[in-house]
Amino acid sequence: MAASEVSAKVHDVICRNIEQIQDEMISFLQDLVRIPTVNPPGELYREGAELIGNQLKRFGYDTHYIVAEGLKEHTAEHPRVNVFGRMKGSTTRPSLHFNGHFDVVPVGKGWTRDPFAASIEDGKMYGRGVSDQKAGIAASIFAVEAVRRAGLKLHGTVEQSGTVDEESGGFAGVAHLARQGWLGKEKNDYVIITEPTDTDHIYLGHRGVYWFKVTTHGRIAHGSMPHLGVSAIDHLADFLHGVTHDLKPKLAARKTEVPVQPPKSRYASINVNAVFGGQPEHGTQTPCVADSSGAIFDRRFLTEEAFEEVRGEIAEMLERYRAANPEFQYTLEDLMVVHPVQTDKNCDLVQTLAGCIEQVAGREAIYAASPGTYDQKHVVRIANVAQCVAYGPGLLAQAHLPDEFCRIDDIVASAKVMALTAVQLLGLEQSLTK
Ligand SMILES: [Zn+2]
Repeated sequence: MAASEVSAKVHDVICRNIEQIQDEMISFLQDLVRIPTVNPPGELYREGAELIGNQLKRFGYDTHYIVAEGLKEHTAEHPRVNVFGRMKGSTTRPSLHFNGHFDVVPVGKGWTRDPFAASIEDGKMYGRGVSDQKAGIAASIFAVEAVRRAGLKLHGTVEQSGTVDEESGGFAGVAHLARQGWLGKEKNDYVIITEPTDTDHIYLGHRGVYWFKVTTHGRIAHGSMPHLGVSAIDHLADFLHGVTHDLKPKLAARKTEVPVQPPKSRYASINVNAVFGGQPEHGTQTPCVADSSGAIFDRRFLTEEAFEEVRGEIAEMLERYRAANPEFQYTLEDLMVVHPVQTDKNCDLVQTLAGCIEQVAGREAIYAASPGTYDQKHVVRIANVAQCVAYGPGLLAQAHLPDEFCRIDDIVASAKVMALTAVQLLGLEQSLTK
């Protein structure tokens, strides 16, 4: 049985079952929020993974723990432990994989509530990581469970993973799962990453990232006789001036067709993340012409820009400075490249999800893309699963804020959308009588 419309009766029975297990879902989420899985450095990952794993096991999943052995992030003090569960249907395909990261960013200042109490006030649960994105994990696990409690059996296979380190790049999390074959196009048709997308947005992808370092080189001399040296800091200042006054206006004129949220992020951009050079800030001060200086840049690029051109533009700029001044010596070093990803809006996953959002929320789904990256890059680039999106409860604007919260109603609504989507994509073994 292929993807199909869900009958009104199936729709009702699923939604009713979600409401019936709402309290269980919320109490599971509270337990998860109460484990401070703070990253960096990556606290209590084993405890977080086991809480999710035990829940999956109770709900009938075949459960595995995937430890990122051999990766530099994985240490005795802070082990990188991911959890994976599979509930095989009558057939292995189609297969829908729900992924959520259970690491949370540090608490930060400005909280008026205990960030790990998971207290509920006025229909909102407060806590670090509630929106980003433990609520998404609770919603997807209980969405599938509600289908089972309704006495229905999915035809295809459902998988759920709880992964680590999304907030620090995801290399010991989703990337590791993909490299180890737990996620991949050979076994998965659809992947939903349960990041906070305001309950009615579908994130199709994200912009590209190019982090690079420019080091300028000079010749050391006594600071009282700078004419005897060549200042690497002066060179860097020239280049920074060019970045601000030539490059930035050019980038600000490039706009993507992709619906990046917020709309001001629809333009190419560059930020200087750090500058350094000369004598260290703290320590004995000695008068010297700096023979080395550098800066780290964060260039965000659009689907419409090819990475080779993005890098070429920087290299050409540096070459122009060298041509104008033979003493301008530099090195350009690539630190990180993430290519943009963009799932086809017309694919089965997106259209099914959009239909279910409309049914549950009573309004049309909004298509969006993220200004920054998230684990979709690993699903698309390493696991090669083309149909991957982010969808989940919680407000994206709440992510990383003090007094982070998620509305309980949103968690329930998202769980309904996820359950209906799973049923449509995977099909049902036996239909309820119409
Ligand atoms: Zn997140």
